[in-house]
Amino acid sequence: MTSALLPTYARYDLAFEKGEGAWLTAVGGQRYLDFGGGIAVASLGYSHPHLVEALTEQAKKLWHTSNLFQIPEGERLAQRLVEKSFADFVFFTNSGAEAMELAIKMARKYQAASGHPEKYRIITFEGAFHGRTLATIAAGGNKKYLEGFGPPVDGFDQVPFGDHEALKKAIGPQTGAILIEPIQGEGGIRPVPPQCLKGLRQLCDEHGLLLVFDEVQTGVGRTGKLFAHEWAGVTPDIMAVAKGIGGGFPLGACLATKEAGKGMIAGTHGTTYGGNPLAMAVGNAVLDVVLAEGFLEHVCAMGARLRQKLGAVQERHAGIIEQVRGEGLMVGLKLVPNNGEFAAAARAEHLLVIPAGDNVVRLLPPLIIGEAEVDEAAKRLDAACARMEAALKESTGVKA
Ligand SMILES: *Cc1c(COP(=O)(O)O)cnc(C)c1O
Repeated sequence: MTSALLPTYARYDLAFEKGEGAWLTAVGGQRYLDFGGGIAVASLGYSHPHLVEALTEQAKKLWHTSNLFQIPEGERLAQRLVEKSFADFVFFTNSGAEAMELAIKMARKYQAASGHPEKYRIITFEGAFHGRTLATIAAGGNKKYLEGFGPPVDGFDQVPFGDHEALKKAIGPQTGAILIEPIQGEGGIRPVPPQCLKGLRQLCDEHGLLLVFDEVQTGVGRTGKLFAHEWAGVTPDIMAVAKGIGGGFPLGACLATKEAGKGMIAGTHGTTYGGNPLAMAVGNAVLDVVLAEGFLEHVCAMGARLRQKLGAVQERHAGIIEQVRGEGLMVGLKLVPNNGEFAAAARAEHLLVIPAGDNVVRLLPPLIIGEAEVDEAAKRLDAACARMEAALKESTGVKA
């Protein structure tokens, strides 16, 4: 079939027409268990009654006004996020990359407003992903994403993941901030150990740098805490979130302390859509559920059960799964065979998982899943492993 969509995605030959909970129904009627969650976005699953009601009620009243006017639902959502985090201020965006763009701009502006305009450089980590805008591809440093798009935006110094000496050496007179995902998502569910996040905080404090966390994928309950950095007991100065915060509605946010945001006065940044009444109604509805008593404990319990079941799958199929890693319901399977082929084998079992870097597939299910869905996913992954083993046997058989 020819498509009028710009072919930047190699899409699977699969389309869905409806969803409920963790289940998607394809055009044609087959049901799939979704452990990709639209890439960590469908945090409350599909057709969650509270979200549907919030969206439709707001849709009948008012969609958009622009940020020239007061938006009471946005004031409320920002206030709630501030109360539950390190932050004093929130700026709403429509995506993760936009939240990251502001995080980068704000870090630079902070240094400029502190009398150090030369400290515009930001240290980032190999394997990082921060979005697809010009600045965020430079921050992420993935050559595939930079190729052919002209000189990368200046101001990012990348160091190897986990190389403390390289990190210390990279701090120079122009360094203004360190940017990191508490768990690399796209990079292959690579967690940063809590003591390393603590070390980064210390390093930033020693050198007058801002610590910026990209929690676009890890935030809003994904790891069993509202924000993943809470596991390490440290706080950033600036944080970007998106994905799960809108439960499927395009919404992002940049959170900051008063000090880090001190340069961002009226006129320094803007957005036409960001934080409009429709988005704010949904964002508040998502928080209603995520902040409800017992919700994050549920995520922790389901995450523990999932990793336990996956451990058993790994034992049965050690030639397929090399490692199970992650936190809460952000889980990576490091594979021996190709991760794209494994994701296809899982799709054949009507289970959706998402390939990532480091030959990993990501499991990012809706946070509302129950034991039955966890067990079903493990069963289907077991079957996917068996498919891979059969395929490998066949291919080696052909060679011999
Ligand atoms: C997805 C993602 C982004 C980019 O978000 P978009 O909404 O696609 O712009 C940035 N950082 C991280 C860690 C992400 O996972």
